Amino acid sequence: MTTAELQQANFDLNALRHAVGRADSVSDSADAIDAHSHDWWPINAAWRQQGKAPYRPCAVATPNNADEVAAILTWAHKAGVPVTSWGLGSSVVGGPLAVRGGIALDTTGMDRVLSIDTENMHVTVEAGMNGGALEDQLQAQGLTMNHSPQSLYRSTVGGWLATRATGQFSSRYGGIEDLCVGFKAVLADGTKVEIGGAPRMAVGPDLRHVLIGSEGCLGVITEVTLRLFPLTEARELRTVTFPDVASGVAAMRGIMLSGLRPFLLRFYDLAEARHAMKDPAFGSPVMFLGAEGSADMAASEIAELLKVCARNGGKDIGPAGAEGWMGRRFDFSTIENVLNSHGGVAETIEVANTWSGIGGTYDALTQALKPFADEVLGHFSHAYSDGVSLYVILLGKADDPAGAEVRLKQIWETANRAALDSGAVLSHHHGTGLARNVHVREALGSSWDLYGRLKEAMDPSGILNPGKLGS
Ligand SMILES: Cc1cc2nc3c(=O)[nH]c(=O)nc-3n(C[C@H](O)[C@H](O)[C@H](O)COP(=O)(O)OP(=O)(O)OC[C@H]3O[C@@H](n4cnc5c(N)ncnc54)[C@H](O)[C@@H]3O)c2cc1C
Repeated sequence: MTTAELQQANFDLNALRHAVGRADSVSDSADAIDAHSHDWWPINAAWRQQGKAPYRPCAVATPNNADEVAAILTWAHKAGVPVTSWGLGSSVVGGPLAVRGGIALDTTGMDRVLSIDTENMHVTVEAGMNGGALEDQLQAQGLTMNHSPQSLYRSTVGGWLATRATGQFSSRYGGIEDLCVGFKAVLADGTKVEIGGAPRMAVGPDLRHVLIGSEGCLGVITEVTLRLFPLTEARELRTVTFPDVASGVAAMRGIMLSGLRPFLLRFYDLAEARHAMKDPAFGSPVMFLGAEGSADMAASEIAELLKVCARNGGKDIGPAGAEGWMGRRFDFSTIENVLNSHGGVAETIEVANTWSGIGGTYDALTQALKPFADEVLGHFSHAYSDGVSLYVILLGKADDPAGAEVRLKQIWETANRAALDSGAVLSHHHGTGLARNVHVREALGSSWDLYGRLKEAMDPSGILNPGKLGS
């Protein structure tokens, strides 16, 4: 919806403010709208360089609590005005862009820690809390969430649930779906719901999973309870080289089937190993391994991990490479620097497949994407007993920002097609947003109908993040 269309539809900001009961709860200032017109999807860099902002909300609402969220949604539901949730805008796929205008609902006014329960090891926070600020508070008390996305300090807890995010230690601790005990949310018509909260339940389907990963299309998450862990006593880190990609992937599989659970398990192909080791002359694919627990546990687990690696051709070259990576693990500057350059082209594309399929997916994606970048890098992380995710990074340069925009669109079309044709899932953890929207129906196959029925029932007027998740 454009501003003019909204005016025709009697979109009255004062009526919305009145519904919320706070005069400063909604803004249509240029600054507020600008701040909610670009997320971290790389194509935004090309748009910015051309002075473009194709997806601008008409207004930005900043609720301070769930009652205000409910008031906004009740009003928008009746008025038929789109509402797109916005955490910290760190989506790299265009998830929070307001494709049909309307209201950007910025959750960051809801940023309080509500309780830290050290007996049951739960932390409850408002959904707009910055994840890094939360982790810092917890660590000061000897606690951790063990959810550590690279974007820890630039994303919200609610955003993690909405995108089904995962973190760098997931091979041991799981993704956000494993770490989330329960949450509160507001549905499209303003109804407030509370879901989960117990260690496990067998009372019908697990309704947490209706909203986890729903990308703001089925409700607005307002409060989240996550599991807590004590900080571990000791960590052991190692760097292991492998002769080729296949042997490193085989070692990852061996590790996950051996019952070992390293908190750090990442394997880089040769092209990315050179970046990961900060050594342009580095000569082989490389794995970063980490074990944690008591000092004895960490020492014995790392010894067992190295045995599995050795059986697959791995050579232990010591802790330095993995230690260096741990120190740089929130650094995104390689990609940021390219995107900040005139006509820079950089992308990150994550998919997943079974062990039997991931080699084919790696070949398909890296080959198909080669014509679009100077460098195509690949790593495997987030391992399971039955498969692993693949993360491909592209770095390159077009003649100008318009050329970069065209190239980035071609990259996504090519990557999505190659992923699906190789039997991979469309996204492992970034979600679908706009970058993958046209492929969502195909990716969901026969379950698309089930999602469609849920969407129809939960958001009958289609106000929640329209233009996403296949709509
Ligand atoms: C440098 C960098 C590194 C990254 N590393 C990782 C990583 O390691 N792992 C990973 O999983 N992702 C990663 N991401 C992607 C991104 O950080 C995640 O998708 C994150 O979960 C988004 O959180 P956010 O608060 O910024 O949400 P936003 O980007 O603001 O929104 C993302 C989506 O969630 C919806 N949404 C947000 N908040 C709510 C809410 N409260 N209720 C309902 N819907 C909501 C939005 O409408 C949108 O569809 C990275 C991004 C960057 C820029």
